[in-house]
Amino acid sequence: MPLDILIAGGGIGGLAAALALHRDGHRVTVCEATAELKPLGVGINLLPHAVAVLDELGLLPALQAMAVPTSALVFANRHGQTLYEDVRGLAGGYSHPQFSVHRGELQLMLWREAVARLGTERLLLGERITGARLDGDEVIAQLATPDGRMVERRASVLIAADGIHSAIRRQFYPDEGPPRWNGMMMWRGTSLAKPFLDGRTMVQAGHRRAKFVVYPIAPPRPDGLQLINWICDRRLREDGLGGGLAAPGREDWNKPGSIEDLLPTFGSWRFPWLDVPGVIREATQLLEWPMVDRDPLPRWRHGRITLLGDAAHPMYPIGSNGATQAILDATAIAKAFREDRRVETALANYEAERRPMCARIVELNRQEGLDYILDMVEERAPEGFARLEDVIDPAEVDAFVKRYKAAAGHRQTTVATSPVAAPPGSSPGST
Ligand SMILES: Cc1cc2nc3c(=O)[nH]c(=O)nc-3n(C[C@H](O)[C@H](O)[C@H](O)COP(=O)(O)OP(=O)(O)OC[C@H]3O[C@@H](n4cnc5c(N)ncnc54)[C@H](O)[C@@H]3O)c2cc1C
Repeated sequence: MPLDILIAGGGIGGLAAALALHRDGHRVTVCEATAELKPLGVGINLLPHAVAVLDELGLLPALQAMAVPTSALVFANRHGQTLYEDVRGLAGGYSHPQFSVHRGELQLMLWREAVARLGTERLLLGERITGARLDGDEVIAQLATPDGRMVERRASVLIAADGIHSAIRRQFYPDEGPPRWNGMMMWRGTSLAKPFLDGRTMVQAGHRRAKFVVYPIAPPRPDGLQLINWICDRRLREDGLGGGLAAPGREDWNKPGSIEDLLPTFGSWRFPWLDVPGVIREATQLLEWPMVDRDPLPRWRHGRITLLGDAAHPMYPIGSNGATQAILDATAIAKAFREDRRVETALANYEAERRPMCARIVELNRQEGLDYILDMVEERAPEGFARLEDVIDPAEVDAFVKRYKAAAGHRQTTVATSPVAAPPGSSPGST
């Protein structure tokens, strides 16, 4: 029997869930707080196991047209010397590509698909969920409209996919307080630039106190320029490792940042293959976001109500897991309803599959995830190196990367990662 499912939040997780549940025959309605959808945010990455889910939903051609199939993740020191190259996508032995894409464009694409498949009347803009209560076999959601009206909607299931400031999570955990900060501030920008390396590589360069992450998020344009996404991470507080601080100001994905905060640190970072201050100065967009997460919850489900995506497990945007894990939640909840139509059992099964995995990633990212490699090299060779193998044991790094990827749920059918021992100043990645 099809269920009436209400999803609060039309972000990437909510829309992926709407498409998966609609495909399985359920009547799905999405209520999105924003009155007008705009392509907000900058770049994100979709790992192959999330791309596989979108492929099952028939979205691979749309993704291929808008995104960049990432060829490798390269770790470099702050001089641009390669420490390690992790081959990604099909060449890395995965069943699907990894995609780098503009977050807002991806959300709009999913929204358009949902409108086409579910019908306009099921995609509701300007409805902000404020609370929900159980009523027998139903959930009653309370929603506020931009003109100040309150609306009630009934459903058999409520999925709260309303992001890091989730109103439903707050209802169930009123004492939780704001997200927790680790002392890092992230300036997230986009610039139009000539493609670097092979035009498909993601690079993370620097160390624990200052890191520059850069990757292209759209195919090259006819004029030869490409939209690239970059992130300058700077540690503002040393006492935040592992999390637990109060962030300076409310976390707002749309808060503008300033180039002046970046040039004193990154102004001298010139890689053989990229002029970092040049890219920063060319910013077409610059946003500021503290690196925050929340402690894993003891439970997501409350009767017929559950959480999904950032509402359930906000995590540091490390290891390309934010959108990826939300999409994996979406496919898991659809599967749970295919396997058991009893709402509470299905929601319990969904949670049993996803909650421990997401809690593990939250914890892993607090330990700095793959950034550990950068710190190790900065500590041992702050001025760079002549031979990488004098600084780190490539086998040690390789083992570390494999452990992280296994814990984060990467699924390689064949393993094609290889440590790269590059001469100083040589370009990392497959150019
Ligand atoms: C505007 C914006 C910009 C972002 N930019 C980036 C970025 O540049 N890089 C990055 O790594 N991550 C970014 N993120 C976060 C990233 O999209 C998520 O970490 C990830 O995709 C998981 O998605 P989600 O659907 O769980 O949450 P989100 O993408 O946060 O989506 C939540 C959705 O719920 C809506 N919403 C919020 N409250 C309510 C409510 N009470 N009722 C109904 N709807 C509600 C929001 O408007 C949003 O559309 C951004 C999120 C937002 C909302």
